[in-house]
Amino acid sequence: MLGMVYKVVEQLFAKKSTNYFPSKYILKDTVDTLKKGAVRPPVAVKEGFRGRLEYNVESCTGCGLCSKVCPANAIELYPAAINDKKTKRIVIYLSRCTYCQECVTICPKNSIQITSHFFMADYNKYDVSLVVGFEHRQKYEIKEEGSPDVQKEGD
Ligand code: SF4
Ligand code: SF4
Repeated sequence: MLGMVYKVVEQLFAKKSTNYFPSKYILKDTVDTLKKGAVRPPVAVKEGFRGRLEYNVESCTGCGLCSKVCPANAIELYPAAINDKKTKRIVIYLSRCTYCQECVTICPKNSIQITSHFFMADYNKYDVSLVVGFEHRQKYEIKEEGSPDVQKEGD
């Protein structure tokens, strides 16, 4: 019995041997350890790899073609005001994206690009890090009655 109590107390104060997975929670000493070993972040990927999407709000015209072709309903068009002009801009919900690249192909302004970045895990699928264009939406969106901020769990 005493041995068990000792073991429990010992475990309570023992150094953790695991880390949270999403890379933003990786402890600095873990990254340092990885850098010393064979795995050197960022990890190289093969040519043509489809990772995180990037969005250029400056070149986007708000035409909405990308949201029309998206088979996963991952792109949302919202009303925006830029330089005192009413227009539209997009946000991309990476948690729904299938990385088919249809939006990249159809965009007449090359405003959406595929990158090789693949560390995208998070506990909340609507976390800011998983909604591409979130910060632009905060800046440019014209609030209309009933318009949601960022879609919520279950949407
Ligand atoms: S890559 Fe495909 S699924 Fe992802 S946002 Fe673009 S069109 Fe939608
Ligand atoms: S990202 Fe491209 S396709 Fe989508 S709204 Fe902007 S200009 Fe149009």
